[in-house]
Amino acid sequence: MTTMQVKISDLATKHRLTADVVSRVLADLGLEPANGEIEIGADDLEIVSEELKRLAPADAKTLVLAPNRTPRDMAAAMNLPDKEVLKALMTKVKVMATLTTTLQDEVAEKLAEVFGFSVQWETATPKREAAAKSQAGSGHDKPLRPPVVTILGHVDHGKTSLLDYIRKSNVVSKEHGGITQHIGAYQVQLPEGVITFLDTPGHAAFTAMRARGAQVTDIAILVVSADDGIMPQTIEAISHAKNADVPIIVAVNKIDKPEANVDRVVTQLPNHDLIPEAFGGQVIVCPVSAHTGEGVPHLLEMILLQAEVMELRADPKGALEGVVIEAKLEKGRGPVATILVEEGTLKVGDVVVVGTTWGKIKAMTDWKGDRLKEAAPSMPVEILGLADVPGAGDPVEPAKDERGARETTEARQQSDRAKAMAPTKRRVSLKDIRRLGEEDAVKDLNLIVKADVQGSVEAVRGLLEKVESDEVNVKVIHSGVGSVTESDILLASAANAIVVGFNVKPEGGAKAEAERQKVEIRTYTIIYELIEEIEAAVKGMLEPKFEEQHLGFVEVRAVFKLSRSGKVAGCHCTEGKIIRNAKVRVNRDKEIVFEGDLDSLRNVKQDVREIIAGQDCGIKFEGWEDFKEGDLIEAYELVQVN
Ligand code: GDP
Repeated sequence: MTTMQVKISDLATKHRLTADVVSRVLADLGLEPANGEIEIGADDLEIVSEELKRLAPADAKTLVLAPNRTPRDMAAAMNLPDKEVLKALMTKVKVMATLTTTLQDEVAEKLAEVFGFSVQWETATPKREAAAKSQAGSGHDKPLRPPVVTILGHVDHGKTSLLDYIRKSNVVSKEHGGITQHIGAYQVQLPEGVITFLDTPGHAAFTAMRARGAQVTDIAILVVSADDGIMPQTIEAISHAKNADVPIIVAVNKIDKPEANVDRVVTQLPNHDLIPEAFGGQVIVCPVSAHTGEGVPHLLEMILLQAEVMELRADPKGALEGVVIEAKLEKGRGPVATILVEEGTLKVGDVVVVGTTWGKIKAMTDWKGDRLKEAAPSMPVEILGLADVPGAGDPVEPAKDERGARETTEARQQSDRAKAMAPTKRRVSLKDIRRLGEEDAVKDLNLIVKADVQGSVEAVRGLLEKVESDEVNVKVIHSGVGSVTESDILLASAANAIVVGFNVKPEGGAKAEAERQKVEIRTYTIIYELIEEIEAAVKGMLEPKFEEQHLGFVEVRAVFKLSRSGKVAGCHCTEGKIIRNAKVRVNRDKEIVFEGDLDSLRNVKQDVREIIAGQDCGIKFEGWEDFKEGDLIEAYELVQVN
């Protein structure tokens, strides 16, 4: 049985109990902590958690929240210091944010959980996951669901051919073997299980959905042609899948070709952090031919195996949860949307809220065009009956009735309008990177590097990866040859990255997309300028460092006592200068008798900015007036050096 180390203090925080209470509970259960930690198996931990939950203050366990909270709101709701909450967000939930970033509701829930709270959402529509969880109990009670698979890869490497082959060779009825696919997704039924394939056009769609907070793909199939090997869009696809944390299965395609060289592809993969099983890694590589079908059954088997490992579960009886894959307006049919059901069951007649629109489902068809009454988890279906065309990636949620749905939709539209009016969501930019680092966690500076030739890509990447600091991680999350594309922008948007172009420019579409998504693109033609700017930005992210800079000396020549405002030192500047915001150090008989700040600097009753050598002045200090004739005052300032 595997065990893990758990900190007593973490258990205490989570359940809002003191460490003593936690230790007592552990002792009662016969568990002995050492050095504030305990080694414990998963089952035992569940028992301990149950017990601690029972003891936790009952009234403090539920937070009632409106959606779209910021870390600051969360801190206020939990009555905890801002900093502590933000730190937990970054270190425990692993989400980088500032105090005012709007959090996805799921993230807010996880954050609350860290401190032992469960969240109850204020909306009329039950919140997606919370509702599903409460109805279905713990995840393990839910039945398994089919994996949702996306095929990615370089153009012409055979994505479409592979999808076509799989579809045609795995439909039971002859009649369907010949029909054209009705929607951008289909399911195949194998003896070992069902797989849902999404036919999204390219990586852009994959990441565009993610940028909207929807993660629909469970497994990515990376198609690499055995004659071409890894190409720029292959690398792009790898970056997108990795960034989305989706496991990759490599399908080396076109093995029927005489010039096919599977081994070459296998040896290329480790250069992109994909270590094939043959080299002791985890990445499954399947040689296939989309023309002859060789290897395809094995690929499908591997997909199901991977899915089994992932234990993908959803409850068909739970609260409905779905996502829009694509949507359009069709003449005579109105808004038509392809929906992937993620949780619960979608039925004809259901009233749903979809993003900022709603509808009562009039009709539902599967990918073959067959009419359906119900759709279970992982099923892609086309629906009719929405009031408007939703966006890809929009969530599908249940509504009580038409009125409730309309109200929720109107509220959302209003808040969307408000958001559109408000200053747009801040993305990372090189100039204001320092503002990212308001808190003490390590900050990531994510970069996407595009350059004109492979040599430059390598050079820029290599140099950037050497830009180091304790507090800032410079991470090149994707690099490649060619101009900056829309897909780069979408990846940058999803990963909060800056796009760096060397000897390349953004394509027209990319420029517009960058403006929409508020992604910063920086282009350079001189490599050291590029590195210098990134280094400067990274330094900006560091905590500012100050160095003392000497300004001058003044000597106390007389001490005046003013009736109202205490004592004033009448001084003469003997060297350099003294300025109003100067810091001062008072020397007397070779000892420093005061160090601090100036309160006022005057010349003949006038406040002045500075006094230079040879001039007289009246000086007061902040919180100290014990000066004597003959004191030598050194003026200095603190200058930021990074
Ligand atoms: P996509 O751009 O990745 O969707 O690639 P396509 O599926 O359109 O395929 C590009 C070209 O490669 C087409 O001419 C296909 O007929 C061909 N092709 C795809 N798969 C295979 C294969 O397994 N063997 C051979 N010989 N050709 C293939």
